[in-house]
Amino acid sequence: MSRRERALQRAQELKEAVQDYLAVKDSIPRGMAPAQREQYARQKAKILALFGGTEEDWNDYRWQLRHRVSDVEALLKIVNLEEDEIQAVREVEKKFRWAVSPYYLALIDDTQRYDPIKLQAIPTKAELCTGGQADPMGEAYTNPAGSITRRYPDRVIINVTNQCAMYCRHCQRRRNIGSQDLHTERKVLEESIAYIRANPEIRDVLITGGDALMLSDRTLDWLLGELTAIPTVDYVRLGTRVLVTMPQRITPELIQVLKKYPPLFINTQFNHPKEVTPEAKAACDKLVNAGIPLGNQAVLLNGINNDKYVMRLLNQELLKLRVRPYYIFHAKDVVGTKHFNTSIDDGIEIMEYLRGYTSGMAIPTYILNAPGGYGKTPIGPQYLISRGKRSIKIRTWEGRVFDYPNEPTVDLKDILKA
Ligand SMILES: *Cc1c(COP(=O)(O)O)cnc(C)c1O
Ligand code: SF4
Repeated sequence: MSRRERALQRAQELKEAVQDYLAVKDSIPRGMAPAQREQYARQKAKILALFGGTEEDWNDYRWQLRHRVSDVEALLKIVNLEEDEIQAVREVEKKFRWAVSPYYLALIDDTQRYDPIKLQAIPTKAELCTGGQADPMGEAYTNPAGSITRRYPDRVIINVTNQCAMYCRHCQRRRNIGSQDLHTERKVLEESIAYIRANPEIRDVLITGGDALMLSDRTLDWLLGELTAIPTVDYVRLGTRVLVTMPQRITPELIQVLKKYPPLFINTQFNHPKEVTPEAKAACDKLVNAGIPLGNQAVLLNGINNDKYVMRLLNQELLKLRVRPYYIFHAKDVVGTKHFNTSIDDGIEIMEYLRGYTSGMAIPTYILNAPGGYGKTPIGPQYLISRGKRSIKIRTWEGRVFDYPNEPTVDLKDILKA
C-alpha cells in the first residue's frame, strides 16, 4: 500500500468515528437553532405583555432583576405546568427560595416536561427528597478572616454577596443562598482585603458569592481597585452566572469598569447547549473584546448534561463564544439537590468520549471535590496503564496499547562539557 493509500484508509476510519455524533447532534436543542429562537421570541413577547415592558426594558438588567418571577401565579401565566408540578412548586417554596429572570424563563420549552432549562429553574418535588448535607465542603471551617474561603496555598475566594439573577435548583451553595438577598458588608470586605494584603503568598483572588456581578458597578470598581493595588496579587477572577441567566448585566458601563483592572478573568457556568444563545454570545463578545478571557465551569447534572453527546456539543458551542471549557464539577451531596447527582462513572465515560474524539480545546478537567473541603481532585479515564523504571505502558484514545521508553533525564552540563 502506498503512503497516500494508507493515509486515505486512516482518514476513512477517523471519518467513521465521528458519525455517531453527527447523527444525534441536530436532535439536541441548541440556543442558536431556529426552533429555539422562535420559541424564545414567543415567550419573550408573552412576558413583556404580562409586565407591560418594552424591548428596551428587556435589554435592561435592572428591569430583568425587578421582574424576576418568584410566585406561582405569575409563573403560570408564562409557563404551562401540570397540576402535580404546580403543587410541587408550592410545597418546595416553603423550604427553599426560587426566582428566575424573565430572560431565562423565556428559554423554557414548556411542551417538554424535562426541558433542561426548566429543570434548572423551576422547583420540583425531587427537592424534598431526604438526604444530602448542608455543608459538604466544610466551608464553615475554611474562613480565616472576613468573607474569605481559603483551601489552597496561593489563592483564595472572597464571598461578596448571596444574590443571584436566578436561584439555580442544583445550586451547590444552597446553604449560602438563604432567604434574603444580602451583599457582604463593606467592613467585612475590608477585613478580607486586609487579610490578602497581610498574606503575600496569595497571588490569585477569586470574587464570588452568590454571583459576583450582582454587585453594583461602583462597588466592583472599588473592590477591584483595592485588590489590584496589592502588589502581591497577580490577577483577579470573577465568578458569575449572569452570562447564562441574565446577559443584559454586561453593560457598556460595566465593561468600562472591568477594563480598568487587567489581568482579569471571568468564569461562568453554562450547563447545556440551549443556554448558548445570541444574547449570551453578545455578552461574551463584549467581555472578550475588553480583554477578559472567559472560562466555563459546568456542573455534571443528572437529566441535564450527563450525556456524552450533550456535553460534547456544549463544549464545542462554548468555543464559538470564545469561552474555554475549564472544569466539569461532579455534583456534591447537597441537601435538596440529590436528584441531580450522577455516578462518577457517568463523568468518566464522558471524559473518555471527549479525548481524541474532539479538540483538546473543548475538553475541561473533570473535578471531584474532596470531602471536608480538602480540594479539587481531577479524575478521569486512565491512559497510563503501568509505570516502570525503564518503560511505561500507555493506551491511546482509541484503545491502542503501546510500550513507551522512560529514560532518565540527563544532566545538560554533562553533555555540554564532554
Ligand atoms: C475552587 C476554589 C479555588 C480556585 O481553584 P482553581 O483550581 O485554581 O480554579 C480557590 N479557592 C477555593 C476555596 C476554591 O474552592
Ligand atoms: S448562580 Fe451560582 S451561586 Fe447562584 S444559585 Fe446559581 S449555582 Fe448557586
